[in-house]
Amino acid sequence: MSKKYDYDLIAVGGGSGGLSVAERAAVYGMKAAVVESGEMGGTCVNVGCVPKKIMWYGANMAHSLSNARDYGFSIEQNGFNWEHLVTKRDNYIAGINEWYHTYLEDSNIAEINGFASFVDAHTLDVDGKRYTAKHIMVSPGTKPMVPEIPGAEHGITSDGFFELDEQPRQVAIVGSGYIAVELAGVLKALGTDVCLYLRKEHVLREFDAMLRENLLEAMLDQGIDIMPSTQIVEVRKEEDGSLTLIDDKGHNSSGFDQLVWAIGRDPNTAGMKLDAAGIETDDQGYIITDLYQQTNVDNIFALGDVTGRAPLTPVAIAAARRLADRLYNNQTDRHLDYQLIPTVVFSHPPIGTVGLTETEARDKHGEAVKIYQTRFTAMYNAMSRHKVKTAMKLVCVGAQEKVVGCHIIGPGSDEMLQGFAVAIRMGATKKDFDDTVAIHPTSSEELVTMR
Ligand SMILES: Cc1cc2nc3c(=O)[nH]c(=O)nc-3n(C[C@H](O)[C@H](O)[C@H](O)COP(=O)(O)OP(=O)(O)OC[C@H]3O[C@@H](n4cnc5c(N)ncnc54)[C@H](O)[C@@H]3O)c2cc1C
Repeated sequence: MSKKYDYDLIAVGGGSGGLSVAERAAVYGMKAAVVESGEMGGTCVNVGCVPKKIMWYGANMAHSLSNARDYGFSIEQNGFNWEHLVTKRDNYIAGINEWYHTYLEDSNIAEINGFASFVDAHTLDVDGKRYTAKHIMVSPGTKPMVPEIPGAEHGITSDGFFELDEQPRQVAIVGSGYIAVELAGVLKALGTDVCLYLRKEHVLREFDAMLRENLLEAMLDQGIDIMPSTQIVEVRKEEDGSLTLIDDKGHNSSGFDQLVWAIGRDPNTAGMKLDAAGIETDDQGYIITDLYQQTNVDNIFALGDVTGRAPLTPVAIAAARRLADRLYNNQTDRHLDYQLIPTVVFSHPPIGTVGLTETEARDKHGEAVKIYQTRFTAMYNAMSRHKVKTAMKLVCVGAQEKVVGCHIIGPGSDEMLQGFAVAIRMGATKKDFDDTVAIHPTSSEELVTMR
């Protein structure tokens, strides 16, 4: 290590990105530290993927219970204990937080607790104490947005959702992205009345139209109220504590005991004094980086959600590991390829998607695009009164019919996509799909038998 600095690397933010870069740097023998102002693990562990997935499993359990009678079980449903699930979930997360402390110690990574701000390009101030490093990697993540309208403070965000120790009876969710639809599906399945407010016509606007349309249909079928093309302009707290939402058409909707803003996220850099190190951001405040996660300052790097690119945990982890490989293991061209990142929406039913949407493919490749699609009821639902549709689409291009997009909605899509994402990344064609022997009886076999 250079004697000039306290550390070879300091990562700001103990989330997916910060922990991963420090971990790999330490493997290569570097003296590394992680600064975290909250709980180790960041958004994913504390207020994102992990608690969300546990709630999703809870919601799946509710769906299974309601189908159980169709499979011959004689069961009585005696309600659902929110507090029980939430307490177990929080204990599980506390265990992960605890594990991180031991893990960092065992990995020879220093844990610095507090809020980091820049003094200069090599120096951070953490709650009054200064630390220097040859390299600084910034991954402070993002924070949920709240609109600037009267009464907005009466609502909560996804962070507040994970703090609810009582199950709300009637919830308004404002937003159309994946967090909005995931929370809507969970709450509805667990027995809460849900009204979802969309600013435009659709949910998941950037996803393939087939996914959007099928999800919307499924949500309506579950009894979720959907208010398209509606903008909330004011929130009023009534004397009985309930909330009234006033929309841009002048309509009032009342009786909500919770309102969740899920309208997007902002980079979490306030107070970090990026200027002191001369770090440039774009007009939305995201830190600008090149393909190598390099900021405009030579020794400062940024990755994860704060860069505004594919805000997903495995993306932050992959970018972090590649950065450490490049800086500390002579893998000079190592960097993350941001193309063909597979992703799952834990809606009900779940969605798996990778690559170009049909619209994107047509814009890019015009007439050379060929679409294969199917829609069916999976065998599991053949037995149940409540039918859930599964739909799949392959987007292919050129004479070879190279598969450039794969979009699935339906039970099991979440676990189905990963292997197909590998094939697509390797350049698979429709013929490669067709030449793969199907696994029967599954839903995924439809992906290799589409005509
Ligand atoms: C509700 C929800 C559900 C999600 N579900 C999924 C999912 O299913 N799958 C998926 O892949 N992704 C999911 N995500 C996204 C995922 O959580 C993020 O992509 C991931 O956490 C980004 O990692 P990061 O390292 O960039 O930042 P974060 O994990 O946000 O970590 C940043 C950390 O930095 C700390 N910090 C910030 N500023 C400072 C400072 N100045 N000094 C010290 N510490 C600081 C913060 O306290 C935080 O712990 C979800 C997100 C949310 C909100």
